[in-house]
Amino acid sequence: MHVVRTIAKIRKLRPSLTGSVGLVPTMGYLHQGHLALVKQARMENSAVVVSIYVNPPQFGPGEDFGAYPRDLRRDLELLEQEKTDIVFVPCDEEMYPPRFGSWVNVEKVTESLEGASRPGHFRGVATVCAKLFNIVQPTRAYFGQKDAQQAIVIKRLVADLNMNLEVVVVPTVRESDGLAVSSRNIYLSPEERQAATVLFKALSLAKQLWQEGEKDGEKIRRQMVWVIQREPLAKIDYVSIADSNTLQELKHVGRCGLASLAVRIGKARLIDNVILE
Ligand code: AMP
Repeated sequence: MHVVRTIAKIRKLRPSLTGSVGLVPTMGYLHQGHLALVKQARMENSAVVVSIYVNPPQFGPGEDFGAYPRDLRRDLELLEQEKTDIVFVPCDEEMYPPRFGSWVNVEKVTESLEGASRPGHFRGVATVCAKLFNIVQPTRAYFGQKDAQQAIVIKRLVADLNMNLEVVVVPTVRESDGLAVSSRNIYLSPEERQAATVLFKALSLAKQLWQEGEKDGEKIRRQMVWVIQREPLAKIDYVSIADSNTLQELKHVGRCGLASLAVRIGKARLIDNVILE
């Protein structure tokens, strides 16, 4: 496994990767969710490249950029076990040199949900992913359904700018009680960790109501809000029933709904979603 810190070195190694290349972009502090992406990339490609980079532009002022957990040594051990070919670990100067001035702005699908709560977030995500795609030139790039809006934004980016790669979305990995695995779960105290199960409870209720025939988006949303509000440690950022392609809020949930939410529990801001299909 090569651990590479510069773009020049990736460019030098890239021709030696014959056949398809799967790229898994991450911010590190790897868990089973990340490893599901790496495993799928491993199954579907001749070579696997994983990037580890905590990308400053996608964090807003007052967000957890400084506190974001990091453990490179452990990450490299896990990636070695998954037979990763290259781990790309750039520093900020490598990704954003002093005269950097080009940003990628995906419109419309970035305006609601995470985009509304975290202004500038998707500008940072789209820019770093466009850079990683240009640097690594992957055949496929792997993203988690856990960040549903991010996957939609990246698909839009790749289609709109005619990037020559396939975006693969991998199902969300959950703990046994349903909580989506996340690097940010480390911020939770034992009591808050217990309270965090309310996210999956609300999403499961949405799915159940929809499967039982409830198609009124606002009614489903209200039931989810009611479940979360009964948990005193949980503070709702948003609860949404939206079209799973456009992310527009839905009055009537037809065949492609996305139930999603962002909830603060203590210091952690947790997001999760289920597809209504
Ligand atoms: P992050 O390091 O948080 O930027 O995540 C890197 C990638 O892993 C993103 O595409 C995430 O959507 C994905 N991911 C994070 N958590 C999970 C999870 N629990 N299940 C599946 N994918 C995940």
